[in-house]
Amino acid sequence: MIGILGGTFDPVHYGHLRAALEVKTIFGLAEVRLIPSATPPHREQPAASALMRSQMLALAVNNQPGLLVDTRELDRPGASYMVDTLHSLRQDSPNQPLLLFIGTDAFNHLTGWHRWRHLLDYAHIVVMTRPGSTVQKSDGFFNARLAYEKQELAQTNAGKLFFQPVTPLDISATAIRHMIAEKQNPGFLLPDAVIEYIQQNRLYETR
Ligand code: ATP
Repeated sequence: MIGILGGTFDPVHYGHLRAALEVKTIFGLAEVRLIPSATPPHREQPAASALMRSQMLALAVNNQPGLLVDTRELDRPGASYMVDTLHSLRQDSPNQPLLLFIGTDAFNHLTGWHRWRHLLDYAHIVVMTRPGSTVQKSDGFFNARLAYEKQELAQTNAGKLFFQPVTPLDISATAIRHMIAEKQNPGFLLPDAVIEYIQQNRLYETR
């Protein structure tokens, strides 16, 4: 089974990294692919360039076996739609379950994603419980696909929805960007190597 965590990662932080490591262990995954979005279609555009966000990710997962940076969305022109990314990952790995991990905040907006029903054609969706956001009323489409045991995800390659609690870390990239703009120290919210990169490139200094 392969795990996928997409995001803007503007910048990557321990909320992302700890969750990725935990679900890798919980589901016995060979790898978790962290996929930075080039042009996110569902939100305002990132402050840092796609190249810089992927370089920060690479610094963050350096020496972490099984956590990989996948830049396929940066290599594709136009908007980064997750459904296209999953289609491409499915072509690379035709015969094993794909697990798309998203936080509860992202899940609450999922029915606004491009061709959202088709996400489940290519992958299972695992919602990682995130502090500060609870699951709002879930669409009937999802309720019909709910798995109650994580073992169910290994039995088919795609098509199920599962809720997985992870250690709650109330860290967000937005809060980190605001701290840096206010000249506060974001230490211990993200890796030191990423903080050094942000300082060297003078990222997030203005709001
Ligand atoms: P921003 O504050 O800029 O919106 P973010 O911190 O939410 O950014 P994203 O890159 O948008 O980070 O998140 C990518 C994915 O990781 C999303 O599915 C999001 O729900 C999840 N995620 C982000 N932060 C956490 C966290 N602290 N705990 C669990 N999941 C998280």
